[in-house]
Amino acid sequence: MPDLKTVVADIAEEMRTRPDRGEVATYIPELAGVDPNQFGMAVIDAEGEVAVGGDADVPFSIQSVSKVFTLTLALGKIGDRLWRHVGREPSGSAFNSIVQLEYEGGVPRNPFINAGAIAVTDQILAGHEPREALGEILRFMHFIADDTSITIDEKVAASERRTGFRNAALANYMKSFGVLQNPVDYTLGVYFHHCSIAMSCRQLAMAGRFLAWRGKNPTTGHSVVSPERARRINAIMLTCGHYDGSGEFAYRVGLPGKSGVGGGILAIAPGIASIAVWSPGLDSVGNSHLGRIALETLTKRMGWSIFGD
Ligand code: GLU
Repeated sequence: MPDLKTVVADIAEEMRTRPDRGEVATYIPELAGVDPNQFGMAVIDAEGEVAVGGDADVPFSIQSVSKVFTLTLALGKIGDRLWRHVGREPSGSAFNSIVQLEYEGGVPRNPFINAGAIAVTDQILAGHEPREALGEILRFMHFIADDTSITIDEKVAASERRTGFRNAALANYMKSFGVLQNPVDYTLGVYFHHCSIAMSCRQLAMAGRFLAWRGKNPTTGHSVVSPERARRINAIMLTCGHYDGSGEFAYRVGLPGKSGVGGGILAIAPGIASIAVWSPGLDSVGNSHLGRIALETLTKRMGWSIFGD
């Protein structure tokens, strides 16, 4: 078995010098200014050893990676009743698409497209003030990452709110079908803020550990979710975690993963590792270009694809 630290350091070096870096997301003005030349990677193994490469300690906007954590929280809160408000099938369309919503009675395909994540956020908000719901989400991040320094980037949140017309359309549309229960502004406010959580690759890999080790933090032994729930969240990450690029990601990387337009990806090698990569340049479907290539290289060299080596 190749040495993990060497493999991660080699990949970081290879990615640093690649000329093809994808395009930084521009529809959220605050993200448009991020330097595309950055690349970071962090891998935590079963012993809790962390292998890092490149800009692994630089915080970035986790964006849609936050949807894994809000899904976990919402399932913890209302269990399988969540599936009345959101489906769990791949969408085969863009992350911010509205067409399917009309055909399917306002119930979004899965919790990882924008409409689905907004519906999930609405469930976390139920019975709370937006501030309390956000506090709950942030405390959960602190707990699973063992790190109370994780915060929300208010500038990114404000930038998203100012320009989030498409998300407002999705939310209003769902509201018209009775899928959302709270005032649209409240739900969107919480959604924009959790997308604006800033974390480094190291922090994100720490936060993903419960998904790699059957719902438990392998270092403290603290249980976050049941093994069954961790398995199911991983299944949804595999089938829906990269929008319309989910099939390609499974084909090339072979791990459950969730991407965000900030260029981050959380990937889980069940029983083996929790992995975070970040490179801000995106491919044509909105997933980190070098992040995906780095993960493909890692799984190939380590033999970690869930489909075999
Ligand atoms: N906050 C972003 C949006 O709603 C998240 C999109 C993403 O990361 O894919 O558009």
